[in-house]
Amino acid sequence: MKKNVILYGLAVLLLLGLTVRTARVPGEKKLARTEFLMDTIVNIVVFSRDRQVGEEALRLAFNEMERLEALLDRHLDTSDVAKINRAAGEAPVAVAGETLDVVRKSLQAGAQTGGAFDITVAPVLSLWGFGTDGEKVPSAEELAKALRLVDFQKVMVNETAGTVFLETKGSEIDLGGIAKGYIVDRAAEILLAQGVTSAYLDAGGDIRVIGTKPDGSPWRIGVRHPRNRRDVIAVIELTDCAIVTSGDYERFFVAGDVRYHHIIDPSTGYPAKGLASVTVVAPDAFTADALSTAGFVLGLEAAMDLIESMEDIEAIIVSEDGKVHVSSGLEGKVTILS
Ligand code: AMP
Ligand code: MG
Repeated sequence: MKKNVILYGLAVLLLLGLTVRTARVPGEKKLARTEFLMDTIVNIVVFSRDRQVGEEALRLAFNEMERLEALLDRHLDTSDVAKINRAAGEAPVAVAGETLDVVRKSLQAGAQTGGAFDITVAPVLSLWGFGTDGEKVPSAEELAKALRLVDFQKVMVNETAGTVFLETKGSEIDLGGIAKGYIVDRAAEILLAQGVTSAYLDAGGDIRVIGTKPDGSPWRIGVRHPRNRRDVIAVIELTDCAIVTSGDYERFFVAGDVRYHHIIDPSTGYPAKGLASVTVVAPDAFTADALSTAGFVLGLEAAMDLIESMEDIEAIIVSEDGKVHVSSGLEGKVTILS
């Protein structure tokens, strides 16, 4: 599985080679660093006049991402999330401010999307076993039992005490649909604090750009074709914002000719149907990450309605039939290549 992720990551990097190519600006140095984090390939490109400043910014940004991953990965025994899950139905758990922040924002995303985004979907995810050796289609009984544990409204965040409590014994949270966005935002904040004014961050499709390219032109971002790994389905020019894609191709297995992928409809326990990918453009990666996962669950019409109702948020949605749908704010700004 890891190998697949790496291959996919390399494909994305190649793809983004297009994006990061930029006219040389005298005095500007291009510094890049790539690491395997959060089960994906993370690539940051910084443009800086001072090599030392750029390198230090990169070092601090990667340190921060590693620190946050260690708090938020539910598969890591020592993480805050693992501690919260172990104490479900028993006791509130004191966690880091960042964990509190992500959980609180995730619950807001749950409310905002009518429960399409639900971090308590973890017991259902565990049954499907995406990305593990135990991938399988669960029985209807198993799913029904796990679904009884899914309800983001049973997650209690106590800001004053700094604790998170899962009310229902056996329930668990999984921040996979949102953690990368949060972490990319934090890394971007570090770069900005170090004085970086032109940079590009990509964590396996969770992308944030700072400023413009050094020559003043916008970043050109390719949206991956959900069925042809090597192809780009759309190109968009962006400055100072985030663009995040959720796709049924990122983590899936095929059984009996059916593709079972990792974005679960919390109302059924089965992978959400109808779409192949949802790309959301937003001022920050957290918002884009939550909305791309939720949009995938909501389906074309409800996802577009939600996006259109929100200021500063746009989307490019590819339905299962391969059609590309673009929100009104992006009309004329996206080049569709299919
Ligand atoms: P993304 O690639 O951001 O769409 O995130 C997909 C990941 O989010 C999955 O691998 C799960 O960890 C998690 N997930 C799946 N379904 C949901 C859902 N309905 N709400 C929140 N997180 C989910
Ligand atoms: Mg997401």
